[in-house]
Amino acid sequence: MKRIRRKQLQRRQTIFMISIVVFMGMVWSIYAVSSTISGNQITTSAESTVSPNKNMATPNKRYKIVIDAGHGGKDPGAEGVSGNHERSYTLALSTKVYELLQQEPMFEPHSTRTDDTFVNLEDRAHIANDLDADAFVSIHGNTFSDPDVSGTETYYYTDESLLFASKVHEQLAEATGFKDRGVKKEGWEVLKLSNNLAILLEIGFLTNPSDETNMLSEMHQNQTAEAIVSGIKKYFLDREG
Ligand SMILES: [Zn+2]
Repeated sequence: MKRIRRKQLQRRQTIFMISIVVFMGMVWSIYAVSSTISGNQITTSAESTVSPNKNMATPNKRYKIVIDAGHGGKDPGAEGVSGNHERSYTLALSTKVYELLQQEPMFEPHSTRTDDTFVNLEDRAHIANDLDADAFVSIHGNTFSDPDVSGTETYYYTDESLLFASKVHEQLAEATGFKDRGVKKEGWEVLKLSNNLAILLEIGFLTNPSDETNMLSEMHQNQTAEAIVSGIKKYFLDREG
């Protein structure tokens, strides 16, 4: 009886030991599988966070563009046929340009003013100079004593800015649908004070009834803003080659 019981005990101990070994093996294999899964997850998430940074780190840098809404506050600018002032037109259009640039990963837009406040010309240029901006784009509406005078013109001052002016003007003149008055060199204070690429856009004549009606329409402002952004984009993409 005793021998039989001892044998039974030994068998139970053996079964117990085997089950412990099997159990440990199962625990180990579960651990091993889960660690590979989490390991994979780590690499996947690491890859997904690394890739956008990789794109940013590529030679395609983010260009700092300063959008300058002409006039503002105590300086109303030109008075349009309807009695509207240039300062509100330039702010409306500049805001649209700024927002479109924000959607482009290649640009980092900045504004010289975001509401109806007065900013002097030195400060406008200094904003761009302090940022070491890649380009300064001043937005205006034109004025003339003769209401028949109409059209779009783009100004630059330094020779380095000529090509930039041409690229933006090409898109702008087409989009406004106004008379193309061309790209002109002129020593506007804000252009002279800028250290980097700088242009001044006279979108159309607020003193011309037809130009003004278009310029005050939301649709025309959107078209114009898109054209300015596409001109800026074309210039920098061409320069990257
Ligand atoms: Zn102006």
